[in-house]
Amino acid sequence: MTDLKYISTRGQAPALGFEDVLLTGLARDGGLYVPETWPQFSADDIRGMKDMTYPELARRVMTPFIGSAIPQADLKALIDGAYATFDAPEVLPLKKLGGNEYLLELFHGPTLAFKDVAMQVLGRLFDYVLKKRGSRITIVGATSGDTGSAAIEACRDKDAIDIFMLHPKGRVSPVQEAQMTTVLSDNVHNIAIEGTFDDCQDRVKDLFNDQAFRDAHNLSAVNSINWARVMAQIVYYFWAAVKLGAPDKKVAFSVPTGNFGNVFAGYGALQMGLPVEKLIVGANANDILARFFASGAMEKTGVVPTLSPSMDIQVSSNFERLLFDLVGRDGAACAQVLTGFRDTGKFQVTEDQLARARDVFAAARFDDTETKGIIKLVFDECGELIDPHTAVGVGAARDYHTQSHTGDTPTIILATAHPAKFPDAVEAATGRRPALPARLADLLDRPNRCQTLANDLDQLKQAIEKQLS
Ligand SMILES: *Cc1c(COP(=O)(O)O)cnc(C)c1O
Repeated sequence: MTDLKYISTRGQAPALGFEDVLLTGLARDGGLYVPETWPQFSADDIRGMKDMTYPELARRVMTPFIGSAIPQADLKALIDGAYATFDAPEVLPLKKLGGNEYLLELFHGPTLAFKDVAMQVLGRLFDYVLKKRGSRITIVGATSGDTGSAAIEACRDKDAIDIFMLHPKGRVSPVQEAQMTTVLSDNVHNIAIEGTFDDCQDRVKDLFNDQAFRDAHNLSAVNSINWARVMAQIVYYFWAAVKLGAPDKKVAFSVPTGNFGNVFAGYGALQMGLPVEKLIVGANANDILARFFASGAMEKTGVVPTLSPSMDIQVSSNFERLLFDLVGRDGAACAQVLTGFRDTGKFQVTEDQLARARDVFAAARFDDTETKGIIKLVFDECGELIDPHTAVGVGAARDYHTQSHTGDTPTIILATAHPAKFPDAVEAATGRRPALPARLADLLDRPNRCQTLANDLDQLKQAIEKQLS
């Protein structure tokens, strides 16, 4: 069998194999990589997944994407290592909420949010491929709190990687700060910048724009458009669906959505043969996607802060992967739509394209008041504390069943964060303050390490070079 190739959504960058797609991230033409064809699983293949452990299933689903790049024994060790960092025996437990509603808990990893599911694999894949090639990279990123810790946990103690993570000093929550700064591994470098999150992001952009510095230290990023993250997320759609009767029964998924990476992985599972009745997109007040699925118009507005900050986005970067399919996998057409979007802040798909999108996706939006109401309702109904992101998912699932009168389809809500990650919102809604899991109970008392720097590019470059030498 020949290895799968990956093509760019904008049609101009060269097709690449898995290793290069992993290390490249964004395509050279500004597009995102997608598989040239989707690997297929038959109904019998899917039935055969029912009794697998999560790491076994992960290897089964990821192997056709990786091909000969990683021998099976190495891939097994890599995946086993990634999911040994999760503290639930099933890795991703599926819990019945009531009626036909289920919660798929994606938050038992090191940083208590769903990004760990993919990032724990991504860090190991980077390290594996870099070692094989005898090279190293320096990952640089800026965080307002959430993604930084997932990246740090993914890269810690990896021989071929150094990671520098910038956060705005005093402007991330104490728990988020501790999740980053208490990782004392030699290759992890936390930097608090005296400035805002935008300052941090601007300094990171400056570093990437400094071609000499970028080449000298092999700068890289672990952003949400990396194909390998989508690949790792496809697995749990199969995992949950087979537990509820797939392929002989259809299920629906409700996904609290920001950059569209998580729910696009569900779309991938559908393309690979998993029977999915609907992918339900949950949005907060930053509802660009909900408006798109209602009208076919993608239209930028300002971002407002909400109780579900990981979904406070203006433009969903991974949506480009769906758009590519909607325009018939025509890279030039996709690029043209996105150039127009960049220039005008708006694009409109055709009636037919919208109809095809709505065949697969539904969407709903919930503001903070509604989100708190859902957290309270779920607690009153079943005694379960859920975080604000998950609450948006529950709301969207219920809205879909009300609209479409299909209450008997099992619906799996992706629980993307542990309630203890957002204790204030949960307490305000329910009067109960969720506790951190036992293994993190002493987090705020642990020794930490972090360097504070002025918002100044030269000082930042010097600090990085000193650490790397
Ligand atoms: C990142 C994140 C999301 C949004 O996921 P996307 O892949 O960006 O759509 C939702 N919930 C939580 C808790 C997150 O951290």
